[in-house]
Amino acid sequence: MTVKENLNVINESLDACLKESDFSRPTVIAVTKYVTIDRAKETFNAGIRHFGENRIEGFKEKKLALPGGTFHFIGSLQTRKVKEIINEVDYLHSLDRISLADEIEKRAEQPVKCFIQVNTSGEESKHGLSPDEVVNFVQSLKEYKKIEVVGLMTMAPLIEDAGLLRSYFASLRKLRDRVAKLQQTNAPCTELSMGMSNDYQLATIEGATFIRIGTKLVG
Ligand SMILES: *Cc1c(COP(=O)(O)O)cnc(C)c1O
Repeated sequence: MTVKENLNVINESLDACLKESDFSRPTVIAVTKYVTIDRAKETFNAGIRHFGENRIEGFKEKKLALPGGTFHFIGSLQTRKVKEIINEVDYLHSLDRISLADEIEKRAEQPVKCFIQVNTSGEESKHGLSPDEVVNFVQSLKEYKKIEVVGLMTMAPLIEDAGLLRSYFASLRKLRDRVAKLQQTNAPCTELSMGMSNDYQLATIEGATFIRIGTKLVG
């Protein structure tokens, strides 16, 4: 399948989702971590402008090849690697600890748009803060001039139960609203990064503003 064909399928599916919800259309982030630069260029030519990568090397390669793209770092970021990448990142989706925030504060030349990663399902294998830690975490970032908390991000487990998946996405939305209500200057927290190939429809129905799609778009 061409990327264009895949994108048409996704767009039709999003149209259907938005008929049954009051939320707006999410921005599609093409997750290009599995694919070649040529395939990433095909994705750009199909009209996609947002790209996600989870490794430093792949991130730099794709960014160099696609001027005019907006680049999201979606993988977990080791503290000692922050200096190699932070000033090239348009959005970081994996802020999950103070030590990482400290290093960003030290190394970033401009404020960095960050999503706080939340482990909504409580699965041991998943990165992210537990939902009940998030408000305190945001408050502890108050004095950080290089951190802008634009929203919350989650990865749902690979399960079939649509009701359960929706409950994880809805809980992230409610948590986002709580954080936004703090009205903290560096934490507007308006965005929700949630939904991947297997669950982007459910995430959209629950108000995702960014969906991160790999396999079903570029795979
Ligand atoms: C790989 C990845 C995706 C995309 O996964 P697909 O299931 O291929 O759509 C989305 N988000 C993160 C954080 C990822 O690592």
